[in-house]
Amino acid sequence: MITLYSATGEPLYRNPAARSVVRATAETLHEHFDSPLTMQMLTGANVNEINAVAATQTAFGKRWHDITARRCFDAVSGDHAWLISEVDVSKLKATEERAQFLAEHDTLTKLPNRNHVTSGFQARIDQLLASGRRGALIFVDLDHFKDVNDTLGHAAGDELLVEIASRLTTLDPEQYAVARLGGDEFLLLVGPIKENLTPINIANRIRNAVSQPVSIQGRDLKVTPSIGISMFPDDGQKIDELMRHADLAMYHAKDNGRNNFAFFSQDLSDAMEQRISLESELRTALAEKQFATYFQPRVDVQTNRVVGAESLVRWIHPTRGMISPATFIPVCEACGLINALGKTVFEESVCAQVEWAKLGFDLRLSVNLSPLQFGEENLVQDLITMIEQNQGSPQHIELEITESVLLGHDQATIDKLHALVDYGFGIALDDFGTGYSNLAYLHRYPLGTLKIDRSFIQVIDTARPIVELIVSMAHLFELDVVAEGVETQPQLESLKTLGCHEYQGFLFEKAIDFAAFTRLLENESRLCA
Ligand code: C2E
Ligand code: CA
Ligand code: CA
Repeated sequence: MITLYSATGEPLYRNPAARSVVRATAETLHEHFDSPLTMQMLTGANVNEINAVAATQTAFGKRWHDITARRCFDAVSGDHAWLISEVDVSKLKATEERAQFLAEHDTLTKLPNRNHVTSGFQARIDQLLASGRRGALIFVDLDHFKDVNDTLGHAAGDELLVEIASRLTTLDPEQYAVARLGGDEFLLLVGPIKENLTPINIANRIRNAVSQPVSIQGRDLKVTPSIGISMFPDDGQKIDELMRHADLAMYHAKDNGRNNFAFFSQDLSDAMEQRISLESELRTALAEKQFATYFQPRVDVQTNRVVGAESLVRWIHPTRGMISPATFIPVCEACGLINALGKTVFEESVCAQVEWAKLGFDLRLSVNLSPLQFGEENLVQDLITMIEQNQGSPQHIELEITESVLLGHDQATIDKLHALVDYGFGIALDDFGTGYSNLAYLHRYPLGTLKIDRSFIQVIDTARPIVELIVSMAHLFELDVVAEGVETQPQLESLKTLGCHEYQGFLFEKAIDFAAFTRLLENESRLCA
């Protein structure tokens, strides 16, 4: 499209292409552009030729044109004039905008993504801080989202994310900017914080919005969020730092039992540092063999004789003394040390079993396996190698797993379980009753033993029907049943009448070291002889 305009912008000539799109023959150069700024930019500069892509008004509505403006002289009058040539680039522009949009947005929820957060959120924070206002950066993570994907499928998971995204964006678009960081993580920038709206109110608002039931595939799902909040400028001014702090607070909220929110604080940060130093201490402990395997007797309910033991790891700290695995196992799991530690305990258990067999004690040892150990490619081969190297007997080793191992229905895990059972190991389901207690697991997986969680034994007076049910179910599926945490004689009497096979607990003995356990076995056989 080529058009010649006078110095004041009156049209002098149009070529056929320009004529075919112009709204009116008399349209001036000023009227042609969508924004007066374009006119200023093209004709204001003191150069002979200038180029720009700008929005124009045409007979077909607003279009994007690639425009070149040249200063020239009208051949007829000899006066100063403008020669404007234009190419319609609307399609290209749309593609470009789409590419830009895609680069900074999430295709599923259409929300801004992590790329946008780095620049866009920082700009907004700077703007608020410049005007002396405060704001909050809020990390929202959905609890147990993986379960939705695993049980209902990814399409349902996607639908859920879209719904949650839409609820977050409609909270208050004026005040809340929302982004999706990936997976089930959302980030909200809230500001300025108004007088009457405290950050606690804001967190509660988000929690309410997310926890309303979502109807998916004909059922009502309820998901809850874990929320972490950092405030600016109090907890930082840069988006990276604020995100790190909000993330830390979110993990704290999750630790506090999910469907919770937490604010960043210096204490949290210190706890994290302590945790990091605990990690490095644990590495040293492993290298310097500060861990010891202790054994808690597994006892026959009817005869009260020791029939086996559960291996329980202890950290014999050089200055702090004995430390409970409840404090350090989760840290080992979080930092990947659990694989090495788990193998150490396993090997020591195999050796103990072999030693006791030599002394004439035929015991079955059970060893705890962390769910994370099932992520190890070589788990099965490693365990077999340790049996072979120590001439152990897999039939005398039972591996204790928790329900969370089975929850994912992950085929690789199931294959590993079968391979372990095929080799001769027994599998025990630990802490039964605390998790999902899915009855289907009892026949679907190759289990040999069910361990009833301590919490039921503690309240066996009132929870008797539950324990009775678990025991009779175990009988039905031909599983051994072990009651954990038996502390009193009446508890033991109840288990006797219920037909529970074995028990463990302080009533008989706590976990003790190899030498003490050997003495216990020898005393017992002397008494019975
Ligand atoms: P768990 O497998 O349920 O182990 C039983 C826990 O109950 C042990 O705590 C044991 O000392 C304790 N206990 C036994 N009898 C009684 C009782 O009568 N009353 C009470 N109140 N408690 C009793 P511990 O040794 O502190 O171990 C805690 C958890 O740490 C274990 O729970 C297990 O999940 C984990 N763990 C221990 N050793 C290992 C290991 O070698 N590998 C892995 N992956 N986890 C381990
Ligand atoms: Ca156990
Ligand atoms: Ca247990």
